[in-house]
Amino acid sequence: MAKRRLVLTFPPEVVERPVVATLVKEFDVLTNILRAQVQEGEVGRMLVELEAEPSAIRAAMRYLEELGVIVEDAIKDIDMNDELCIDCGACTAVCLPRALKIEPPEWKIELDKERCILCGFCVDACPLKIISVRF
Ligand code: SF4
Ligand code: SF4
Repeated sequence: MAKRRLVLTFPPEVVERPVVATLVKEFDVLTNILRAQVQEGEVGRMLVELEAEPSAIRAAMRYLEELGVIVEDAIKDIDMNDELCIDCGACTAVCLPRALKIEPPEWKIELDKERCILCGFCVDACPLKIISVRF
């Protein structure tokens, strides 16, 4: 099994089609939606993680492209302004993958970008609003 994290950009005419269900049912690709910005009649964006045999993932990506969906590898893009951080730890409480940690003896916040799934929960949790996430 392989995993691939992708950003999908849907043209307005495709936004309402059951694309994710088709990936699961017809291509046997587990599709985990990590983030979505989808509104009727507008271009939609979705951050997904696909899990399946590599050949199934390739077939699913071809299907998406044939529908007119732009398929791009997700680039991890989380920024934190370390200089302004007060190491309060509020962001660690909402970070389920433990990409953000604060531990003794330093009690300094640490961000592991490899673990980050770009869920954005820490963006809202930070009282100083010094974290930003883009996908
Ligand atoms: S975006 Fe989500 S996974 Fe990434 S550091 Fe913030 S809370 Fe953790
Ligand atoms: S919530 Fe904000 S200020 Fe507090 S540790 Fe996290 S990034 Fe730093």
